[in-house]
Amino acid sequence: MPQVQERIPGRIEDPLSTLPPSLNPPARILMGPGPSDVAPSVLRAMAKPTLGHLDPRFLEVMDQIRDMLQVVFGTRNELTMPMSGTGSAGMETMIVNLVEPGDRVLVGVNGVFGTRMADVARRAGAEVVEVKTEWGKTFTPEAFREAAAGQPCKLLCVVHAETSTGAHQAIPPLKEVAEELGALLCLDCVTSLGGVPVELDAWGVDAAYSGTQKCLSCPPGLAPVSFSARAADFMAKRRHPVQSWYLDLGMIRNYWGGERAYHHTAPINMLYALHEALRLALEEGLEARFLRHRRLSEALVAGLRAMGLSIRVPDEERLPQLTPVAIPEGINDAQGRRFMLEQFGLEIGGGLGPMAGNTWRIGLMGAACSRRNVHLCLSAVGAALGAQGYSIAGDPLQAAADALNG
Ligand SMILES: *Cc1c(COP(=O)(O)O)cnc(C)c1O
Repeated sequence: MPQVQERIPGRIEDPLSTLPPSLNPPARILMGPGPSDVAPSVLRAMAKPTLGHLDPRFLEVMDQIRDMLQVVFGTRNELTMPMSGTGSAGMETMIVNLVEPGDRVLVGVNGVFGTRMADVARRAGAEVVEVKTEWGKTFTPEAFREAAAGQPCKLLCVVHAETSTGAHQAIPPLKEVAEELGALLCLDCVTSLGGVPVELDAWGVDAAYSGTQKCLSCPPGLAPVSFSARAADFMAKRRHPVQSWYLDLGMIRNYWGGERAYHHTAPINMLYALHEALRLALEEGLEARFLRHRRLSEALVAGLRAMGLSIRVPDEERLPQLTPVAIPEGINDAQGRRFMLEQFGLEIGGGLGPMAGNTWRIGLMGAACSRRNVHLCLSAVGAALGAQGYSIAGDPLQAAADALNG
């Protein structure tokens, strides 16, 4: 007979009637700025048996993840590994391991994530020089050169794919100015990795971080990072300990590298998911994957334009995986997105900062980037606009098909 638990004075009683039902999340189609749809095999990978974080079989999985990450990042950097945490943990890892109090750091700010990076760098004690341009635009090397005003800088940080606006920063032209300033070139690749080419070694990038839930189509929870030998050398010469214990690469590299020293318990099943997501990306082939994102985004944009809508980033600076579309005058943003979610099971994103209320952000990331979803999204946007009295002149599905055939 089970013992009836004695009533503990002061303990809140948990009557059975408040026990929630077991989880039953609806199947959505995720075409916002992330998380993106997760491939079924990635979800299945997460359901495999949890191993110990020092189990020899798990150590093999870690080595394979590192090898695959190097290919996806376009690098031979030995210091390449996933950090435990979301993309923002990758951002903090890069900053706290490379910045010492008083270091001068240039940060490109043209959206939410550049703004966040400047904040993280200031908290780490950096003297931050914000290099600004309009949201939706990208930076010229001159913008950094002017902001530096001839003074040396420790880091030159920029967001490769600014998810808050859909702007695609060209990286190779920034290398020269980073060299002139003696700065390490540091990239946010959260939304770019797996969606557009990322070539850390060929571009001379010293530090980069990403996240799992954008174009890698994995659930949120890990932040792949990579550091050049030159960046590792900067870390080795630090005068102050890294301000964060949890994100200190000096210790974590001993777990991912030779000694396998325990630091914190690796999120085993999340790493299984990343392993499978990377495997899928390499099985498809990176070039084929980039082409898929580019072609389908051209189809989406052609369809949106056929509806009379305009895209808020110039074509030459536009990311394939994130399309910012202007909401027509008189259309309610939240009501439109709620309509798409309820009627189509489709999630797209709203705008942020100066784009709040006037922009929808449509993601075509990883597993969600399919022809079926382009059509679904065009139909849903058209119906949502129609429900609010906006009449569509053209034939968006035909325009999308023409873009794919052209
Ligand atoms: C999503 C995102 C981040 C932050 O990642 P989280 O996983 O939300 O912490 C950082 N940078 C960019 C460009 C992003 O798109």
